[in-house]
Amino acid sequence: MALSFTRIDLHTHSRVSDGTQSPTELIDEAAATGLDCLGLTDHDNTDGWDEAACAAEQAGIGLVRGMELSTITRSGSMHMLAYLFDPTNRALTELTAEIRDSREHRAERIVARLAKDFPVTWADVLAQSGEAKAIGRPHIADALVERGIVADRTQAFDRMLHPRAGYYEPYFAPDPVEAITMIREAGGVPVVAHPATVGRGAGPDDDLMHRMADAGLGGLEVWHRLNPPEFRAHLMQVARTYDLIVTGSSDYHGAGKPNRLGENLTPPDQLERIVEQATGVPVLLPQRRATQPSKSS
Ligand code: AMP
Ligand code: FE
Ligand code: FE
Ligand code: ZN
Repeated sequence: MALSFTRIDLHTHSRVSDGTQSPTELIDEAAATGLDCLGLTDHDNTDGWDEAACAAEQAGIGLVRGMELSTITRSGSMHMLAYLFDPTNRALTELTAEIRDSREHRAERIVARLAKDFPVTWADVLAQSGEAKAIGRPHIADALVERGIVADRTQAFDRMLHPRAGYYEPYFAPDPVEAITMIREAGGVPVVAHPATVGRGAGPDDDLMHRMADAGLGGLEVWHRLNPPEFRAHLMQVARTYDLIVTGSSDYHGAGKPNRLGENLTPPDQLERIVEQATGVPVLLPQRRATQPSKSS
């Protein structure tokens, strides 16, 4: 299938997880920035999909419905983008519910630790997370900002929220191989998000890469600000070895991070590969207004 998109950003967040905009605001900004296709990939939930679909239709841009699924390896966390899967798939909805539940309890434990040193409460965090379905450290950061303890999310992560700051708590997440299998069973296409954050900068090791490819890994997010240039060349080599899709994206979180919408893009032929492999839900195409019958008054 030939899609007509040219400016495609496949990894963004709304307030449904840790972005700072509603799905509609995000889509409207994407259209205003000149993107013609956006991937909505909130952490561990799909609650933004319906609103985003309406907004994308209104704005006249394409929408790739996705999610950024938390997984965990022996060397730390790994984020797995999942595209165009069936959002009603039982195994996947049960898994994400378990992750979100664990996220919430873990956030409460982090706040209990922080509260020993700083004037911050769980109620502060809930006031910040608002409608978010998946609670994360960014909401704790927002509470610290609101209290005037830090200037912004970045400072909160640097000072209190990184894993070695003394307040960190882990949360439940599946093994990446298990996650890949479940995403494929739900008709989705799994893509490793910002692989440079895996294995303390080294990326997935050869053994893990091999096992993920065997389980049905679809692609690697190569063009992402967290992947250094020389590491991107390595990722391209790995992608060739396993015939993987390569994507690029902003990982935009609204005002929550310096990442700018559309700062990295996915080549159109790579999106076509994702769409060809997916059987869960279709990519939403913009309605061609010119072909609609014109209204007579
Ligand atoms: P959590 O999901 O609770 O483990 O928190 C990780 C989330 O925090 C990721 O989705 C990132 O988007 C966000 N994050 C990580 N580092 C920073 C930072 N320095 N500034 C703002 N957000 C960050
Ligand atoms: Fe995030
Ligand atoms: Fe991520
Ligand atoms: Zn992300």
